[in-house]
Amino acid sequence: MMTRRSALNLAAIAATTLLAALPAQAADTAPVARHVILLIGDGMNIEHEIAASQYLSGKPFSLSFHQLPYQGVQATWDVTTYERHGGRYDPQAIVPTLGYDPAKGGLLPYPLGPELDGARAYHLGAATDSASSATTWATGYKTDDGNISWLSGDPDRGGNRRDDGSLKTIAERLREARGFAIGVVSTVPFTHATPAAFVAHDKSRKHYTAIGSEILQRTRPDVVIGGGHPGTSGRPDFGFIAETDYADLKSGRYAADTVFVERQAGTDGAQALQAAARRAAAEGKKLVGLYGKKQGGLFDWPEPQHRPGAPRIERATTENPSYAEATLAALQVLARNPRGFFLMAEQGDIDWANHNNDYRHMVSTVASLHDGVKAVVDFVDRPGDDISWDNTLLIITADHSNSYMRIGKALGAGELPEQRSDDCNLTRCYPGGEVSYGSGGHSNELTRIYARGQGTELLKAQEGSWYPGTRIVDNTQLFHVMMQAAGVPVEPALKPVPVAAP
Ligand SMILES: [Zn+2]
Repeated sequence: MMTRRSALNLAAIAATTLLAALPAQAADTAPVARHVILLIGDGMNIEHEIAASQYLSGKPFSLSFHQLPYQGVQATWDVTTYERHGGRYDPQAIVPTLGYDPAKGGLLPYPLGPELDGARAYHLGAATDSASSATTWATGYKTDDGNISWLSGDPDRGGNRRDDGSLKTIAERLREARGFAIGVVSTVPFTHATPAAFVAHDKSRKHYTAIGSEILQRTRPDVVIGGGHPGTSGRPDFGFIAETDYADLKSGRYAADTVFVERQAGTDGAQALQAAARRAAAEGKKLVGLYGKKQGGLFDWPEPQHRPGAPRIERATTENPSYAEATLAALQVLARNPRGFFLMAEQGDIDWANHNNDYRHMVSTVASLHDGVKAVVDFVDRPGDDISWDNTLLIITADHSNSYMRIGKALGAGELPEQRSDDCNLTRCYPGGEVSYGSGGHSNELTRIYARGQGTELLKAQEGSWYPGTRIVDNTQLFHVMMQAAGVPVEPALKPVPVAAP
């Protein structure tokens, strides 16, 4: 049995060894990101980015994130995709080309690279869903469609958060290791797959109310702003938040440490959220903002106008904040923590617009992401605080592509194609041929990564390590880049086997 004295001796020896191996000065002065900001355009690929850019400026690459110094590409496949391609998923022997094969899909997404023969069928054959994709960024693990930071195969044991299949997320890890404040923002219900994967764990993304209870009662992030409001008129819809959780927020059960603000008829949502964020920041409290449509969960979509030469996007309602306003409110609260913060903010409506093959609302929701990125860049640039690009990592990306949209004819600023109806047949929607759609579902096309700030070079270092001879980064590698940038490197849980360069 080890005596107290020998235990102390061992601790002293360990401390000496550590000091010898790692000079204290290096640990103190190594530059790290104290602010990690991940902005997501759900279901967005480069053709959607170009479409919104054309609408806003008449040019293809003029969005705010197109100006960032790091620009790369990402493979997004999940375990379900891998197995549909004929692989038997073994995390210790992954064959990356079974998830995404550059020889079939291309080294770069179209139109940055050529459209390969058969690419369309390949891309539409199998693709990740939002839950498994967000799990890769949140945990560094690949998993099955529908899993929220939970291991593939849905085991009840064997995860790394508790003694079950749940996976500790980047938000939980950075809070634990570095004392970061953590927050999630979404324009779709806060219990939807993308925000949920960062602050909840579940075998199914469909368990909305259980996910909401875990977020609000157990994980308790410093900021939660999203859709899912049960509604202020008619029959309330408690599909996205449990009636008891909503009642607790309303009754002030969490008032001692949380400021709650919600959509209200006739109230300017941005102003109310801004006031709530100021109060939460001043009083050192958490912020929960619940918005969305009166019936159902999403924020109302901005409405773009067809005005050649004079693009204009109108708010559908002022009762919800915009994506940019919600993201800034979150930053205002999170930035109070001198130890740092992690924020994931999702423009989740791009995916919905794409599922509907709805070009107009795809343009307006990508423009909403563009506004949000611009607001975040301005926030970091703002003088007078200790938030700068030296201690902040900003990443903008998409969890998967959607709809296999292709631009047939570039439109000028302010121009929208004739769009006959929201629910028409794929080939009948756009009689002018300005645009075509290949499906109403997700695709396995590469998505884009944009980044700026501390740790950007780590992204560069990951390029091609799963796919030699390419610049492709696997989505699980973004988790490792963010953790390493924040000074908390994590040993990769996945091992790709070497594949040949294309
Ligand atoms: Zn998605």
